[in-house]
Amino acid sequence: MKPSDLNSQAADLFGNVSQNRSDLYSSFLWTDYKAQLQNRVKGLELEKYFELTPGERIGIADTIRLNVSATPYYISLSDPEDSNCPIRRMILPRESESVFSPEESSDPLHEERLSPVKGLTHMYPDRVLLFTNHECSVYCRHCMRGRKVSDSKERMLTEDLEACFEYIRSHSEIRDVVLSGGDPLNLSDAKIDWILERLEKIEHVKICRLGTRNPVTLPFRITSELCNIIESHNTDRLSIFCNTQFNHAKECTPEAKEAVLKLLKAGVSVGNQCVLLKGINDSGEIMLELHKKLLELRIRAYYMYDPELIPGSRGFRTPLAKGIEIVGYLRGKIAGMGIPSFVNDLPGGGGKITMTPDWYLGFYKPKRMHVFRSALRGTYHLSPEPPDSTMEESYPLLSEEMWERISPNSYGAGEKSDDE
Ligand SMILES: *Cc1c(COP(=O)(O)O)cnc(C)c1O
Ligand code: SF4
Repeated sequence: MKPSDLNSQAADLFGNVSQNRSDLYSSFLWTDYKAQLQNRVKGLELEKYFELTPGERIGIADTIRLNVSATPYYISLSDPEDSNCPIRRMILPRESESVFSPEESSDPLHEERLSPVKGLTHMYPDRVLLFTNHECSVYCRHCMRGRKVSDSKERMLTEDLEACFEYIRSHSEIRDVVLSGGDPLNLSDAKIDWILERLEKIEHVKICRLGTRNPVTLPFRITSELCNIIESHNTDRLSIFCNTQFNHAKECTPEAKEAVLKLLKAGVSVGNQCVLLKGINDSGEIMLELHKKLLELRIRAYYMYDPELIPGSRGFRTPLAKGIEIVGYLRGKIAGMGIPSFVNDLPGGGGKITMTPDWYLGFYKPKRMHVFRSALRGTYHLSPEPPDSTMEESYPLLSEEMWERISPNSYGAGEKSDDE
């Protein structure tokens, strides 16, 4: 075959994929979320809508993670040809997803050990995670809940939820209930109403958080009916927050904005917890663009997660230094409410910790001075410990040698310490 024949064959193939896409998009009422769910594309059916690479084909067949399935809406944000498209990479598994690496575990955070009743994790004294269901609109390749999501054995029955409410009721230290899953907004309106009503009735529960990716993967799910239900429970008794997960600026569409505005009108504050993903959003520029777009959608930054050590996750992991570098890059370039905390959920059930660049260089005891590096300009700056401080022993000490090198070129509250 001549190369030109190959090219025309490829063009034909692409013609089909793009024709299949437009057929799919026009085959149902686009803004009807139930129709979007019914028309989700699963497993190898995805080859109608993507020119699959051999690695993606293996990934779909051999993934050791969750189901492969995506809404037509989310597929419409992806590139049918470019296998490096960030949206596509969150929809289609690659070959690396079929490898269980030695450092990985199906429950790296020991959520099961910290689970007093099925579906509930109680790690921090004042808050619990409640896994209401295990369905999602799109099964994200990087999902950290692969252990449960899309596993029918893990279904939460009404009596399981009742047992969770009973646990929360009998632990008066619990103020904050994080609804997670799966995706709680993949439950029916009636079930969501029932869950919120139950929580509202528990005197000591003051905060409920909805952890949902529907604003990203199926924004039409945020209907006026749903928002009315949420608003009816967002009362003096209970404050409802939403944390969603946008990972790339391409996800910040007008439809997503409309969904977020509806939640805001229902009095729900919306925050974002992105996941730092190799090859998808692991650069300062991409994260800056994402967080600028999020502020336009009136979403505040909350967390940027380092992926967890779940099976098949190696392909998504970046060096720890990358996340630190990114939050350092953002500082000074965007409002603080657009800068997430870089979070590592410690393996073995240690809870979350945050990592920041070393803006603090140390304490120079002879002069009782703290030495900092400016995130904005890279220059050195001095600030004295208060004279009545009793906490001088708390700081890492700056060496004499460092002080001599840095202090002549540093800035304080008054003039620059040397003559400019
Ligand atoms: C992340 C998490 C929470 C919520 O933590 P915040 O830092 O308050 O957002 C609660 N419980 C568990 C087990 C968690 O992993
Ligand atoms: S929506 Fe959330 S729980 Fe569901 S697959 Fe994606 S990351 Fe996992």
